[in-house]
Amino acid sequence: MTPSFDMFGLAEPLRRALNAENYQTPTPIQVQAIPILTEGKDLLGVAETGSGKTAAFALPLLHNLSGDTSPRKPGMPRALILAPTRELAGQIADRINVYGRHLKLRTAVIFGGVGQGQQVKALRAGVDIVVATPGRLLDLCNQRHIRLSEVQTLILDEADRMLDMGFIHDVRRIVGFCPKERQTLLFSATMPPSIAKLAHDILRNPVRVDISRAKVAVDRIAQRVYFVGARDKRTLLTQLVTDPALSQAVVFTRTKRGADRVCRHLVEAGLTAAALHGNKAQNARVRALDGFRSGRVQILVATDIAARGIDVPGISHVINYELPNEPESYVHRIGRTARAGAQGTALSLCDNSERPYLKAIERLMRVDVSVVEHTLAEREDTSPRPGNRNGAKRHAAKKRRTNRGRRPNRAAGKSRGANQQQEVRL
Ligand code: AMP
Repeated sequence: MTPSFDMFGLAEPLRRALNAENYQTPTPIQVQAIPILTEGKDLLGVAETGSGKTAAFALPLLHNLSGDTSPRKPGMPRALILAPTRELAGQIADRINVYGRHLKLRTAVIFGGVGQGQQVKALRAGVDIVVATPGRLLDLCNQRHIRLSEVQTLILDEADRMLDMGFIHDVRRIVGFCPKERQTLLFSATMPPSIAKLAHDILRNPVRVDISRAKVAVDRIAQRVYFVGARDKRTLLTQLVTDPALSQAVVFTRTKRGADRVCRHLVEAGLTAAALHGNKAQNARVRALDGFRSGRVQILVATDIAARGIDVPGISHVINYELPNEPESYVHRIGRTARAGAQGTALSLCDNSERPYLKAIERLMRVDVSVVEHTLAEREDTSPRPGNRNGAKRHAAKKRRTNRGRRPNRAAGKSRGANQQQEVRL
């Protein structure tokens, strides 16, 4: 049976708004989350933006609030939604206003980088729902423009990105201002240990809803690896990005500082590149992304979390300047290319210290990533190491042995019908 919004018993004004939006079928996260949330339970949602998660939490929130007729008090919202960036906060508030347009609920958006006057005024007039970024909210709490003692529902959206942007302490302080008796929801696309710990600390018997499965069409992505010394990576990268087949690329680094360094190097080499990571100011991030989307910027140098969700059809190449230490991140990374049925190329620069990461990736994906011979490789692989004079040769022989019985990376041009598709699901 196809699920429908009728099965949730949502308040009539909400159903009317959904009809007007032409929402006919709830998305998987909506099917799972809405009944749990209308019952008032806590929720741990592993989901990305684009899954329909805003409606998944906003509809039950509005439904629950619509049944509460207590008068609103100035500066004391009944629901608080925390988001890492002002765009996301703005988007959430917009959606709430759309879904709740037939209800008499007031929503305020609070974020930094602009004067606080209008925000304070909105709070003073009385609000039911506040959507906020953590820094400015904490400022306004400290100035006593807002009190969180009436918050019945607390929602943390994109918790991993809040962590990446250094908001985790602010978030914990804000949670401390909310009453202990409350409904709490935490959404995150990934579950690093620090987020799992936060979830454990602030949620009570949460129901876990996981729709994180990244679908990556591996057979449309040619995967190749270059064994190279860490010092030669920059030179090799400059060679790779000047390939005429490369229209646009995302270059991944493990750290934010690494992203800045690589970006600087590319710009000095005369390429149009921009860096994207959690330490960048809001407007710098927007500029980098807009530039990349419009094609003005050819290369985006990014960290894993910052690049998540980027859906730009022109990305012909993903380049792993550094390999991720979690193999799942590799799958997320290469999924930035080969969008909308296109072909893509994923190149990895792997130094000696990263070989175990490559192994883990190959194990997870059940492919052998094709090794590319190149001049810079020699310095790494044949440099005499104590007791390992023929390191490169031995590595190649070992690789041949371990490769037996494994599936080669077909998209690298080794065989297999082009219409046969293979997906890796996480
Ligand atoms: P989100 O993941 O919340 O950012 O939502 C992604 C997009 O899907 C937004 O543009 C929503 O308006 C839209 N959307 C969410 N739920 C539904 C639905 N059940 N039917 C159609 N569109 C939806």
